[in-house]
Amino acid sequence: MYIYVVSFESIEKRLLFAVAKNIKETFGLEVRVSWVASPFKYAYDPQRKQYIAEKVVEYLSTLNYPGLVKIMALLSSDMYAQDAPFVFGFASKREAVVSTFRLSNPDERLFFERVFKEVNQKIGHTFGLKDCSNEECVMNVSLSIDAKSKHFCHQCKKELETALSQLTF
Ligand SMILES: [Zn+2]
Repeated sequence: MYIYVVSFESIEKRLLFAVAKNIKETFGLEVRVSWVASPFKYAYDPQRKQYIAEKVVEYLSTLNYPGLVKIMALLSSDMYAQDAPFVFGFASKREAVVSTFRLSNPDERLFFERVFKEVNQKIGHTFGLKDCSNEECVMNVSLSIDAKSKHFCHQCKKELETALSQLTF
């Protein structure tokens, strides 16, 4: 069983592999990294120069790879959702996407940490976790990205472990 990390755009290789390592450490699942030739113009709004989160996820739902349990796409362009002028990420049951556009920072360590947090939170959603009020928790949405942890609180970790133990393929 694998979590696939896919890239469509000019995402740095180092970031992709760092994200893969972070996912493996956080979720305990093997990770595969894959490049997909940028195929989905219909998910891009050229006027706003942003991807449309719902359509990206819809596209991802058409992809299938051996042993795939979750798929996480990384985009370097900005992204919006139906109810938000921009979003860092978006998730459904199997698919998740993170845009690095608004997370970037000259301090690469900080930039990568932000991406890890967003990735962990969105994959958390794919496992059924909800927003969490614990300030030590990556599922917290009221704290700024830099203020919150990249880890799950005790309660979310328990729910995550239950979801992971029920994974079947
Ligand atoms: Zn939590």
